[in-house]
Amino acid sequence: MKTFYQNTVEEILKEFQTDIRVGLSEDEVLRKREQYGNNELIRKQRKTVFQMFVSQFKSFMILVLIAAAVVSGILGVQNGEGLLDVYVIMGIVLLNAIIGTIQEKRADSSLEALQRLSAPSCKVLRNGAVVKTDSKNLVPGDIVIIETGDFVPADLRLFDSVNLKIQESAMTGESVPVDKNTDVVKGDHVPLGDRINMAFSSGVVTYGHGRGVVVATGMQTEVGKIAGMLQNTTSTETTMSRRLEQLGKVMGIAVIIICALIFAVGLIYGNSWMEMLLTAISLAVAAIPEGLPAISTVVLAMGVQRMVKRNAIIRTLPSVETLGSATVICSDKTGTLTQNKMTVVSLSVVGLEVDDITDKEPLSDNGHLLLETAIICSDAILSNNISIGDPTETALLDAGLSFNLNKNILEEEFKRVGEIPFDSERKLMTTANRCNSSGKMRINTKGGLDEVLKCCTNIRIGKDIMPITNSHIDVILEENAKMAAQALRVLGVAYKDSEEISEDILTFIGILGMKDPARPEAREAVGKCFTAGIKPVMITGDHKITATAIASELGILREGDAAITGAELAQMSDDELYDNIYKYAVYARVAPEHKVRIVDAFQRHGEVVAMTGDGVNDAPALKKADIGAAMGVVGTDVAKDAADVILTDDNFATVVVAVEEGRRIYDNILKSIQFLLSTNVGEVILLFVSSIFNLGMPLLPIHILWVNLVTDSLPALALSLDPADDDVMKRKPRSTKTGIFTNGLMWRVGYQGLLFGLVSLLAFSIGKSQGDISTGQTMAFIALVMSQLLHVRNLHSNRKSFFRVHITHNIYLLCAIVVSLVLMFAVLLIPPLRELFQFTTLNSTQWWIACGIAIIPLIVVEMMKLFKINASKDEY
Ligand code: ATP
Repeated sequence: MKTFYQNTVEEILKEFQTDIRVGLSEDEVLRKREQYGNNELIRKQRKTVFQMFVSQFKSFMILVLIAAAVVSGILGVQNGEGLLDVYVIMGIVLLNAIIGTIQEKRADSSLEALQRLSAPSCKVLRNGAVVKTDSKNLVPGDIVIIETGDFVPADLRLFDSVNLKIQESAMTGESVPVDKNTDVVKGDHVPLGDRINMAFSSGVVTYGHGRGVVVATGMQTEVGKIAGMLQNTTSTETTMSRRLEQLGKVMGIAVIIICALIFAVGLIYGNSWMEMLLTAISLAVAAIPEGLPAISTVVLAMGVQRMVKRNAIIRTLPSVETLGSATVICSDKTGTLTQNKMTVVSLSVVGLEVDDITDKEPLSDNGHLLLETAIICSDAILSNNISIGDPTETALLDAGLSFNLNKNILEEEFKRVGEIPFDSERKLMTTANRCNSSGKMRINTKGGLDEVLKCCTNIRIGKDIMPITNSHIDVILEENAKMAAQALRVLGVAYKDSEEISEDILTFIGILGMKDPARPEAREAVGKCFTAGIKPVMITGDHKITATAIASELGILREGDAAITGAELAQMSDDELYDNIYKYAVYARVAPEHKVRIVDAFQRHGEVVAMTGDGVNDAPALKKADIGAAMGVVGTDVAKDAADVILTDDNFATVVVAVEEGRRIYDNILKSIQFLLSTNVGEVILLFVSSIFNLGMPLLPIHILWVNLVTDSLPALALSLDPADDDVMKRKPRSTKTGIFTNGLMWRVGYQGLLFGLVSLLAFSIGKSQGDISTGQTMAFIALVMSQLLHVRNLHSNRKSFFRVHITHNIYLLCAIVVSLVLMFAVLLIPPLRELFQFTTLNSTQWWIACGIAIIPLIVVEMMKLFKINASKDEY
C-alpha cells in the first residue's frame, strides 16, 4: 500500500472524499470526528479529585495534626474523657483536606481553561469558506492553509506550496527548515525529513505559505506516534510558593525547638508529661501556618482569571509575580500603540507631483501605476468589495477602490506566477505577474523606502525610465521625511519587466503614505508607566521619523530621549549598547534579532523587561524577556507559544493593566500572609508565655485549629480580592531581589503577632482569675478571634487609616468577617458545639471584657500608621 507522500494529490483527495475548492461540509466533519476523535495528543493524565484529596494528607502539618489526634485519644482514654477531641481534630483535618481539594481543583480548572484559551488555531476551508478554528477540531480530509508563523496543526499532504519552509526539528532532529513542494516522493520507507510534500503536525512554518489536505490527526500523526514528546506542562510553581514552602519548613523546625523547651519547662514545674504533651501539640498546631502554601496559588489563579477579563491571558502562574515588578516595557508600534487601521492618505511620484488621495482627484499616470503595482503586489483579498488581510495591504486595496482599481479585476490581467513573501527582516515583498495582454512578466516590489531604493537602479519620471541619481534620491527622501513627520507609514514601490524574479535592477515609481492613528488609550497608559517607575520603549520596524512622530505624540519620547535605528544598533558592541541603553526611547527599523540585544542590555542593568511581539522571529526575544507578551489577534502561533502572556486585544494599554493587576495580586498575597502569620505568632506567644509562667493551657489544640483553619481562612482568602490601592501605579516597581519579608512585613508580623498574643493572654488571665481555666480559655478564644476580625480591615492598607477605606471597599471581606463571627458565636453559644469545644458560658461582663480587649490591636496599629512606623513609603 502506498503511503501519503507516494500518492498524487488527486488520489489523496479521492481517498478522503474532499474537494480542494470547497473543503468538507459540517456534516462530514461531524461524522469524521466521531470516527477519528479530536485532533489532540493524549496528554499526561491530570490528577483526579481523589488524588488531590489524598495528597492533602501528605503535608507535614497534617501529620502533626494526626499525631495530635492520636495523643489526645490516648489522653482521653486514660483520663476517661472519651474521644471527643479526636473526633474534632479529625473533623477539622478532614474539613481542611476538603477545602484544600476544592482550592486545588479550582486552581487546576482555571489553568486548564487558560490553556484552552491559548490553544492554537488554524485556517481551514469548510463549505467553500475559509474559517479559523481550534486546531483540535480538524479531521482527516480538511483543507488547511498554513502561513509563516503557524504551527502545522495536523499531518498534511501539501498541494500548494509558495516558498514554503517548515522547521521540523521536533520530529526529524534537523534544525534547518526544510523546503517543501508538492511533487510525489518516490520510494518506500523514505525518512520523514525527506517527505518534502508533507507537512507534519507541530512543525513550524518559518517562511512562505501553502495548503494541504489533512491526512492524519491526533495520535495518528507522526508526532502522536512519538507520543508524550510535546507534553509541555504549565508550571504552577512560583517563587512565592517556593518561598512559602521553605518558610513552612523553617517554622516547623522552630516549633519543634520551642515545643521541646516548653516540655522541659513544664516538667520542671512538675506538670504531668501527658499534660505537657498536649501543650506541645497545641503549640505545634498554633505555629504552623496551615493555610499559607495554598493561599498564594489560589490567589494567583484567581488573579489570572480576572486578567482574562481584562484581555490578558497568563500562560504561566509565575509571570503574574514578575509582571508586578516590571521596570521596562518594550512595545511594538503598529497595532500595539497604534490602531493598525491603515489608510493611504498620500501618493507621491517623482515628477514630482504629490497626490493627496483624500481629494479623490484623478490620478496621474504614474500615480495610477504606483497604486496598481502596490495592489498587485499584496496578499490581501477583496471579497464583496471588502478587503481582508494585513492592514498595510488592505489599505492599498481600499485606496484602489476609490480610484476604480479593483484587485480582482487587476489579477485577471496580471496573474501571479511567483512571489518572494514579505518578511520583517528584508522589509520587502515582491511578486511576479504575467500580463495577460502582452504576455510579458512583470516584477512588482513594495516595502520600506530605504530597502526599496537599495534595489533600484532606475526611476520612472513621466513616461521616461532613466538611471536613478543622488539628486533623485534626495528629492524622494525629502518627500518621505515630510510624510513621516506626520506619523505616516511610508512604502516605496518599484517594478521591472523581467522573466526572472529578483529584487534588483528595479525601476522606482514612487511612495505611498499611510495613516495609522495612535490608540486613544495608549497615551494615558504611557503616562501611567512613568508614574509607576516603568520605562516605556518603542521598538518598531517602521521608519525612524514615523516612529519618532508617534512616540512624541504618545509621550514615549520625551525631552532628552533619543531614537536610534537598527542599522546604528548593529554598529554598536554589546557593551556600548549597555552603556547607552537608557538614552533611547525609540528603536526604529529594527530587525527582530535586535530585540534580543535590547532585552539583554536592560537585563544586565537589573531591569525586569516586558516585551511584546508577534512574528516568528520575535520568539527568541519573547523567551528572553522576563515577560514575553504575544499579540493574540495578529500574533503567530510561534510567538504565542514563546510568550508568558497573550494580549487578546493586541493593546499596549493591556500590558500596563496587566502590570497593575500583577502589583495588586502581589500586594494581596502579602496581605493574606501578614494576616495568617501574625495569628500564628500571636498564638505561639500566648502559649509560650503561659507555659513559661506556668499559667495553664490558655487554648486547647481544637480552639487553635478552629481559629487557624476556620475563622481565619475566609478573611485571608477575601483579602486576596481587595481592589487595587489608589496608588498602586504611583509606587516604584518592587525589586525582584528582595524576598517577601523585606519592606517591613517581618516587622508587622512580629509586632502585630505580639499584640494578639498579649491581648489573648490578658483575656485568659482575667477569665481564669474570675472563674476556672475554661472561662479563661473561652475569653482568650473570643479575644483572639475578635481582635483578628477587627484588625483585618487594617490590612487594606499598611499606611492609610482604616477609617479612610470605605466600609464597602471589599464586600467579600465584609461577608467573610460576618461568616467568621457567626461561626465563632456558633461554637460558643450552641450547647452541643460548646461542649464539643469545651467552652463555658460567660456572663455579660466577661463578654464585654473579652470584646473590649480585642479592640486594642486595632487602636495600636492605627497609632503606628499615624506615626508612620507601620510601613514604608514604597508599601501599599
Ligand atoms: P512594528 O514592529 O511596530 O509592528 P511594523 O509593523 O512597521 O512595526 P514590520 O511589520 O516588520 O514592522 O514592517 C516593517 C516595515 O516593512 C514597514 O515599516 C513597512 O515599510 C514594510 N512593510 C510592512 N508591511 C509590508 C507589506 N505587507 N509589504 C511590504 N512592505 C511592508
